[in-house]
Amino acid sequence: MRLHPRAGLVTAAAVLLPLAAAVPAVAAPSTAAAAYAASCPAAGVVTQGYSSGHDGVDIANAQGTPIYAVGAGEVIASGPASGYGQWIRILHDDGTVTEYGHMYQRDVAVGQYVQAGQRIALMGSEGESTGTHLHLRVRVGTSTTVRGIDPVPYLRDRGVNLPCTPGGNGGQTTVTAWAEANVRSCAATNCGAVSKVYPNESYPANCWTTGQLVSAEGYTNDKWIELPLRAGGVGYVSAIYLKGDDKGNVSRECR
Ligand SMILES: [Zn+2]
Repeated sequence: MRLHPRAGLVTAAAVLLPLAAAVPAVAAPSTAAAAYAASCPAAGVVTQGYSSGHDGVDIANAQGTPIYAVGAGEVIASGPASGYGQWIRILHDDGTVTEYGHMYQRDVAVGQYVQAGQRIALMGSEGESTGTHLHLRVRVGTSTTVRGIDPVPYLRDRGVNLPCTPGGNGGQTTVTAWAEANVRSCAATNCGAVSKVYPNESYPANCWTTGQLVSAEGYTNDKWIELPLRAGGVGYVSAIYLKGDDKGNVSRECR
């Protein structure tokens, strides 16, 4: 279904779905986030997988190839690291940590909160490395001594299959709201509002999921777009408030 031009829709939608007044721009949902929707860490060839002798996955490409945060989270390390030359560690809302090594340039600092798909570094060959690549390691928790888990199924569970294309498979897209609308803690109008979108403002979007039907001017859809929240976690807004097709221009289904 295609939504038709929106002139006059604002009023109708407001009547059908009154927006809660003065909703504070809130905090992460109370429940711990499940597996988040990941973004592609870097374009390149997978030259080495996870094994007993290799705690991570290697993605090789030319020096200077951008490296992107796999998911939103807090940068808990950014600097020199033994073996890695340089590393960046990001703590995600689900308690996992992604580590990026051997980069030629780092773009983020400790304490910074990054979004999924945000550029964090440029690929290099620093430290113990035989060629330009990203070494991506995933650990559960912030310990730097516990062995990591296999990044390939970790990413697959979050919607990214290696090798991947940044901004494409698993990448974020951008949506633009045509009306003010609540972003809710789940894909239904009876879920609590955790944030808002505003007319003609654009937002990063992860993926879409099926939820409660929302109607305006005779048009109805059940597509809800998952948005990363600035405070961490994700929220959902009905695609009927977003410009574009009935998926709000987001092609990837949430998994
Ligand atoms: Zn490696």
